[in-house]
Amino acid sequence: MPPALTYDVLIIGAGAAGLMASIFAGRTTGPSHSVVALDGAKRIGAKILISGGGRCNVTHDIVTPADFAGSKRNQIAKVLKTFSADDTVEFFHELGVSLKRENTGKLFPTTDSAKTVLDALLSSVDRAGATLLPEHRVTKASRTDDGFTVRTEQGEFHTRSLILATGGKSLPKTGSDGYAYSFAIGLGHTVTQTTPALVPLVLTDGHWLTRLSGLTMDAELAVANANGKILHRQAGSLLLTHFGLSGPAAMDISRHWIAAHQQDSGTQLLINFLPGRTFDEIEAELVDLTGSHGISGITSVLEDYVPRRLAHMLTAEGASVDPTTPMAQLSKPQRRAVVRALTSLPVPVVRDRGYLFAEVTAGGVPLSEVNLATMESRKCPGLYLCGEILNVDGRIGGYNFQWAWASGRLAGINSANAEATPPQHF
Ligand SMILES: Cc1cc2nc3c(=O)[nH]c(=O)nc-3n(C[C@H](O)[C@H](O)[C@H](O)COP(=O)(O)OP(=O)(O)OC[C@H]3O[C@@H](n4cnc5c(N)ncnc54)[C@H](O)[C@@H]3O)c2cc1C
Repeated sequence: MPPALTYDVLIIGAGAAGLMASIFAGRTTGPSHSVVALDGAKRIGAKILISGGGRCNVTHDIVTPADFAGSKRNQIAKVLKTFSADDTVEFFHELGVSLKRENTGKLFPTTDSAKTVLDALLSSVDRAGATLLPEHRVTKASRTDDGFTVRTEQGEFHTRSLILATGGKSLPKTGSDGYAYSFAIGLGHTVTQTTPALVPLVLTDGHWLTRLSGLTMDAELAVANANGKILHRQAGSLLLTHFGLSGPAAMDISRHWIAAHQQDSGTQLLINFLPGRTFDEIEAELVDLTGSHGISGITSVLEDYVPRRLAHMLTAEGASVDPTTPMAQLSKPQRRAVVRALTSLPVPVVRDRGYLFAEVTAGGVPLSEVNLATMESRKCPGLYLCGEILNVDGRIGGYNFQWAWASGRLAGINSANAEATPPQHF
């Protein structure tokens, strides 16, 4: 094997967090020091290119710790406050990428092309004097007396500071397959249980909602325990598909359903097709309408509330009521069954669609094991962690990239600033 190449800062993983770390490590060290990022993928930035439907939802106009899960909000806040959404806008502006805000609050490049974002990041890495080496999959990372040794098929690399920016397990074909958690564990860290997040949910085979595939509507989804206590709510756009539930509302709630279901198999998912409206309100409205619309069929009345196909199925399948029943002939239990189907329909989720379809990974290295002012490991001096490898996952809307930008920047600056680490023995 050829002698190890020696660098001041070596980053494993050149996704969003690793590219940000490369830029800021390079800018901080200046030309006298060497920064390299190794990535197993043939082409750097595959996940950035497909993000946001190929448009890259770079960030969100308002980012708060409440938009994330996994770790405590005060821990997440420490990192987010070092690099705000406005800082992201300014950073990309300096790189020549202007961002536009859509009415959802999501920020995209004005070109509507993720390639603009990736190209700008790659040019910035180059200008910062950092080297990117694709097709360098790391198979081992270990501590030495004066730093770290990193093994690839192409040879060994030696570095004073090591940054783990290897992501999670979502979309493994992009290179993030979870293998690199073993590096963190080998260097003294723990990794919490990981599950897919921002992932579509599969209903029992042939469930009647799957017959409405392609229908999109606003809805509120709720995770409830076996006793009906609501544990988490999420409103947004819901897409019914041939397998079950997708769209932002389903994706956002998925990690909460998965976590609760792991604890208690009696966990339920409930859909309110009239977000913000309660059972009592809708029941009172239907009672009122019975006076003026007594001869109208229940389905035709519900069409004022939800799409026609859904109104029909909610009545027939969700409430087991003949959809042609005139309002005046609905019994009280039938009316209440219809209102229940509209406002808290239980849906039988059997599983999530797995990492192949998940946008992020829930779980990872606990933030308590990292100094959040620097992103340096509390377990292994000279090691830094950033991005999705950490136990933080955000909602849909640009939050996951914001976490990657903020944590990657901190890791880059502080790894480059670090003094030579005294020898450690493990
Ligand atoms: C389809 C899709 C769309 C998304 N859209 C958005 C969006 O619009 N907005 C948003 O905020 N978030 C979005 N996300 C989430 C976002 O892409 C991730 O949260 C973010 O990319 C995480 O960045 P990261 O750098 O930590 O990890 P990753 O982007 O996963 O990068 C990790 C890198 O490490 C490399 N690597 C892993 N193991 C090794 C190893 N052993 N050796 C060498 N290299 C290794 C991988 O090849 C990869 O390049 C989307 C995700 C998906 C899957």
